Amino acid sequence: MIVVMSYDEPACKPLQLWLRGRQWEFSERDHRCDVARNATILRFLATGYPRSGSGDDSLVMLDSDTVPQDDSILTASGEVAWCGYLPHHVDTFGSGCCRISRSVLEKVGREWFRHCYDAEHTRSVMCQCQWFAERCLAIGVKPQRVGIVGHLKHQLLLP
Ligand SMILES: [Zn+2]
Repeated sequence: MIVVMSYDEPACKPLQLWLRGRQWEFSERDHRCDVARNATILRFLATGYPRSGSGDDSLVMLDSDTVPQDDSILTASGEVAWCGYLPHHVDTFGSGCCRISRSVLEKVGREWFRHCYDAEHTRSVMCQCQWFAERCLAIGVKPQRVGIVGHLKHQLLLP
């Protein structure tokens, strides 16, 4: 199941092109990205999505501003695959473009994603991706980087 993570934005143009001809849907909506991911995972697990011809039974999550460079996120082997992107997820697992097998999601259990703050809730101390990656490692699954994705950012150009 391919899901585009979005609150209210369409997939960016290059991602729309990449999605063309593929079956996909939008994520659950929440202003908190970790909550939206958790709700989307619940939906995926409840769906019992039919095992497609590719023999794959995974959840692929793509942020609406990501630009895949190829099909590696779909085709590379591994229980948890991800593509690196700037600025924070070049070498450490990032959820902006990732594929997670149903069995890993079932083994990891709730809560899959959590963005962590300090005690006063004034500063981020751990991104949601790291939280998930640590939970994978705890069950003996190492997320595999299988490629890179671009990140399409809006830019305001002033003379
Ligand atoms: Zn992150």
